[in-house]
Amino acid sequence: MRTLLTHFAVAAVAAFSFSSALSQYSGAVPPPDRVAKGFEAIGVADAKDWVYRLASEEFEGRGTGQPGFQKAAEWVAGKLKEFGLKPIGDNGTYFQGVPFTFNRIDPDSVSASSGNIKLGNKDVALTGATGVNASGKLAIVRTRNKDARIGDAGSLSGRIVIIAAPLDGTLARPQSLNALGAAGVLRVSANLPESEWTRGRGQTRQATRANGFITPEGARKLTTLAGLDASSVDSAFAGDEAEIILCDIDVSLSAEIQTEQRTVPNVVGLLEGSDPTLKEEVVCIGAHLDHLGVRNGVIYYGADDDASGCAAVLLIAKAFATNPVKPKRSIMFLFFTGEEMGLVGSRYYTENPIIPLEKTTALLQLDMVGRNEETANDKPEDNINTIHLVGSKRISMELHNAIVDLNGHINLVFEYDQEDVYTRSDHYMFAQKGVPVAFLFSGFHPDYHQPTDTPDKINYDKIVSAARLFYLVADYAANRGELFPRGTGGQ
Ligand SMILES: [Zn+2]
Repeated sequence: MRTLLTHFAVAAVAAFSFSSALSQYSGAVPPPDRVAKGFEAIGVADAKDWVYRLASEEFEGRGTGQPGFQKAAEWVAGKLKEFGLKPIGDNGTYFQGVPFTFNRIDPDSVSASSGNIKLGNKDVALTGATGVNASGKLAIVRTRNKDARIGDAGSLSGRIVIIAAPLDGTLARPQSLNALGAAGVLRVSANLPESEWTRGRGQTRQATRANGFITPEGARKLTTLAGLDASSVDSAFAGDEAEIILCDIDVSLSAEIQTEQRTVPNVVGLLEGSDPTLKEEVVCIGAHLDHLGVRNGVIYYGADDDASGCAAVLLIAKAFATNPVKPKRSIMFLFFTGEEMGLVGSRYYTENPIIPLEKTTALLQLDMVGRNEETANDKPEDNINTIHLVGSKRISMELHNAIVDLNGHINLVFEYDQEDVYTRSDHYMFAQKGVPVAFLFSGFHPDYHQPTDTPDKINYDKIVSAARLFYLVADYAANRGELFPRGTGGQ
């Protein structure tokens, strides 16, 4: 699930929640014999095994463009091969390459200079996704009180400010410092962060404000040049207000942007339909393989987001491969890249579909299907059996009604109070092209987009239930007389 780029990013407000006393499957009707073997092939042992693998240290949080993603993609392709699925990606592989542009600040180009002093990337790191060209008179702000405020903030306007303050304190937050109107802010830190690649959109502009870090040694060189005691960057003051020292030397910060084109794949496999005509049509089942990867040396494992959904898609693939009666239409299994960067892989797929979208009867998306919802209004113990069914009513009520009917074989408790996430996963790209969609999402929790989204916190029964449900729905969609009626954009 991608982050919503607004201030109410995780405003998960449930109007009410079903408090269910049912255990999973209680009262559920067994599935028809025709699909019983596939249904039974979906089990907790595989779910657990695969989530632990996908969210392992080896795959490093599956960051798009990072080595861990490629390893995960190859592992998934290996599973698709094991299930006997057809490689329908580029050149007979399981990969559909998606082009990405990545940017970072070129570490070799970073400099902070003043007079005859020129500091490079051993002493200075600049953050951001554009080049930098900023200059101004130097100022020092120093404190060892992490709650200290800046008194006369106006005096820092247009200056390059070195902040010597605790890095976990108020004054270390770049967003609060931007409000000062400083031309540049360098926080003193013995450890400089590495320049990280982020998805670029061909930016060429130069930022005239800079944010970054400077080592204590680097800071001392500049303060010495300004005629101050070398110790003036050592935070020794603990008052409520940080001390401000205005200096008379000019400092320039600069850096160049570095750009790289990389191809990162969607992973895709096909189970060919058994009917000679209907096999040209397809039911798509999707999840996103990428997560946030490694950031500042920290792995974001993404066990729920979305190793859970990828494991579910693999479980469904295994079910179709195992069941002796094959569906009439084809089934496509899609593992998208770049979802967390803004639905990039699914956008690319819908612009370059492998089977025409007019022949795609539905996209069934599983994104975060492994947790018991835990928000201000939802207790996890009340959400053992709940899942949000999102977007299914928007394009085809026939699809929606089929899901509700087939849930009689599972007995998940559907909630409909999270429709605001409709635009936030890959199905949305298909919906915008008129393809009927349904999105299963087990809800937000405190580990969402944190390094603590780990496999030990997953409800594996829920992944199994979600996979069994969409197995039955996909089988139904693949065998019914007509394609589901298409929509006009699914707003
Ligand atoms: Zn996400």
